[in-house]
Amino acid sequence: MTSESSLRADIVEIGRRLYARAYTASNDGNISVRLGSDRLLMTPKSVCKGFMTPDMMCITDLEGRKLQGDRDPSSEMLMHLEVYRQRPDVQAVVHAHPPIATGFAVAGIPLDRAVLAEVLTTLGSIPIAEYATPSTSELPEAVRKYIKAHDGMLLANHGALTVGGDLYSAYYKMETIEHFAKISLVARLLGRENLLSREEVMRLQELRGSYGIKAPAPICAEPAMALGAVGLVDDPAACQVVQAPAGAGSRLVPDFVRQMTGAGPEGEIRLTYRELSALIEDALKSLR
Ligand SMILES: [Zn+2]
Repeated sequence: MTSESSLRADIVEIGRRLYARAYTASNDGNISVRLGSDRLLMTPKSVCKGFMTPDMMCITDLEGRKLQGDRDPSSEMLMHLEVYRQRPDVQAVVHAHPPIATGFAVAGIPLDRAVLAEVLTTLGSIPIAEYATPSTSELPEAVRKYIKAHDGMLLANHGALTVGGDLYSAYYKMETIEHFAKISLVARLLGRENLLSREEVMRLQELRGSYGIKAPAPICAEPAMALGAVGLVDDPAACQVVQAPAGAGSRLVPDFVRQMTGAGPEGEIRLTYRELSALIEDALKSLR
């Protein structure tokens, strides 16, 4: 088992990286790790994660009672405790506000499209936990719904949460989420987002086994999504639901967004007679 002193040093280093990458501002964010079977080592509240020292950390029990430390534990301790309660396999939890991923969380857009093979094999989908007031017991409740099947999630209008088998594994998942969010944003700004087909997603899922990736739940490609119908599987506790259209043997399915928005084959926007009339009327009004 890793010694307490090296875990303290790892938390300091990860805090420094979170702050250096602007995943947190000011005193935002928090980090914790299991210390044996019945204790947690956790960042204290009201401290900038970029300037921590190993002696600042708190030790609590699994009910959140402080056992050691000069400072009080993180204001998001309840969320961390809930994760450890729901996931005995999880050893470490990282919470931050990486700006692009948090932008998706604010826009209410989950990172659940089948776009990048690495993201699918490691995290699967990244859902959005419903909005809850930070530091209250609402937040652990919102997280509970998704944490059984997901190692990473967005928190609506707040930030992101990742978990792992050790501190660095939880931290790297935070990096992956922000990186994925950046790539998704650029693709959407460019106006095209080709998706991996359902068949390819299933192939990647099989690779999880051969790479020894321990995912908490299987990926379920949402087969009816391309038709605009309700997905066949939508239990967030049992499955990582990923939007992957049927590709009829092809690995990439182009112009998914265009199909979804109903635009025509050349990308032109089609307006009804009424919409067109309203546009012309508006244009005339602005001329008067
Ligand atoms: Zn936060």
